[in-house]
Amino acid sequence: MTNERLIEKAIEAREKAYVPISGFKVGAALLDSEGNVFLGCNIEDPSGIGVTNVCAERCAIIKAVSEGFTDFVKIAVVGGEEELIFCAPCGACRQYMNSFSPNIKVILFSDNKINEYSLQELLPYSFNETF
Ligand code: ZN
Repeated sequence: MTNERLIEKAIEAREKAYVPISGFKVGAALLDSEGNVFLGCNIEDPSGIGVTNVCAERCAIIKAVSEGFTDFVKIAVVGGEEELIFCAPCGACRQYMNSFSPNIKVILFSDNKINEYSLQELLPYSFNETF
């Protein structure tokens, strides 16, 4: 699947974001090694307790893992209230990706174009089982 198509899927996922507190919608589309795509959106806890919020990236990963898929190739992430803005995964999501698939590519929309990053670029000196 092309990066462009995966970004389109992330935009589609973004529409489902549940963000009564911030209004900031994020969508993610996760591609696994078998060609499956899992969509995720950010979900805010209406109580306003920040730690219980779920990011779009972890939402997609949790959906995949719960269906028995754990080998991920790429994840596209898009975010913004009206127009898309640069929206990089938070530290917790980077670590979560690393725990399952340290070689995953992260596809982000920035500077009005689609860019691909390695997780190593986004999470240098990461914690994993090799340490
Ligand atoms: Zn996150």
